[in-house]
Amino acid sequence: MIETPKNLTRNILLGMFLGFLVGSFLYYSNFIPDNLLNFIKIYVFNLGSGIFINLLKLLIVPLVFFSLVSGISSLTSMKSLGNITIKTIVLYLSTTAIAVSLSLLIGSVFKPGAGYSSEVAPPEKLPQGQGIYETILDIFPSNIIDAMAQNQMLAVVFFSILFGLALNKTNHLTNNFSESFEKLNTVFMQLVIMVISFAPIGVFCLIGKFVITDGLDIFQEAFKYVILLIIALLIHVIFTYSLILKIFTNLSLLTFYKKMKDVAIFAFSTSSSAATIPVTLKTVQDDLGVNKNVSSFVIPVGATINMDGTAIMQGMATVFIAQMSGIDLTLFQYIQVVILAVVTSIGTAAVPSAGTITLVIILQQFGLPLEAIGIILAVDRILDMLRTSVNVTGDAAVACIVAHSEGLIDKNLFNK
Ligand code: ASP
Repeated sequence: MIETPKNLTRNILLGMFLGFLVGSFLYYSNFIPDNLLNFIKIYVFNLGSGIFINLLKLLIVPLVFFSLVSGISSLTSMKSLGNITIKTIVLYLSTTAIAVSLSLLIGSVFKPGAGYSSEVAPPEKLPQGQGIYETILDIFPSNIIDAMAQNQMLAVVFFSILFGLALNKTNHLTNNFSESFEKLNTVFMQLVIMVISFAPIGVFCLIGKFVITDGLDIFQEAFKYVILLIIALLIHVIFTYSLILKIFTNLSLLTFYKKMKDVAIFAFSTSSSAATIPVTLKTVQDDLGVNKNVSSFVIPVGATINMDGTAIMQGMATVFIAQMSGIDLTLFQYIQVVILAVVTSIGTAAVPSAGTITLVIILQQFGLPLEAIGIILAVDRILDMLRTSVNVTGDAAVACIVAHSEGLIDKNLFNK
């Protein structure tokens, strides 16, 4: 197995802490000249984090392609692929439905929007999201190079499966060509490690950039909404995932959460499940012992369609805005919110703030004032970081459950 750099988690945490410290020092100190501050902001924080995110993104498409192709081309039974697909989709959709229901419940009991009035100006232009129709159509690319260039994960996954199947069926004619894909996959995993070794610096720049841009005052607006949302996210991670992991696998929860630490930190600092794919894949395969055949499918698909944290935000934001505008949602409307949030979270891109774009679709459905999205956006930075960590934890939990049910998890590796 490929070795990870030593003390990586400790160094990433240190990078995060220093980024926070330096960022807030620069933001709040008023003796540093503006042009020096600007220079540091652009050439240290923005450039550093930009390079790091680009390097992560660089790996996503080839990594997913090679690991999926090498996994599928070595499958001996195609039935297993069908089972993995069905279980994955069912688990993803049901955990998301639980997530929204949870946030609706908390939101309607503790009423974040009751008696709230805001000073935040509405956005000039409303964000535009992509509908479910386009999302489905995009799974079937008309041009794979184009789909790869645009990081359209579902299309890349679809093509990789087809290619892997064809490779599988022609291995006897191609002198076991699939072995070359195995080798390329190993090379790309090594590349992931090389990029991850820069994570402490990357995370330093990312966190510093956030703090230096917004400061730490962002919490003041819509305080109750922010706190309730964080509580809902925590409950979902601590209870829902623990519960399903216990029910379906009986694996050690402590080990699972411990090993997920790096992935959560990555998701937190990048605010993007897509950019986190290389790290999630590596952790799920090398540390949690999930077989490559499962992880290479479940993780990229999950990063694209499974967004429990996002759904929690959308549920809470809907309740918040409804209460703020004095609109009482009926039980039937609550059920509609659950269905809509599950569907829109599939269509939400795995990039920063994408969840607030698809939130518009839900608000529109119930005739809620779209201007209120200004308040949601004002506090979204930190919430996006938190919910992205939840999103990726959900992907890994489902990967463990699916792998366990297929007998494709290496328990020794998991417990190591
Ligand atoms: N940033 C989230 C993700 O990539 C999406 C969102 O909720 O905005 O998972």
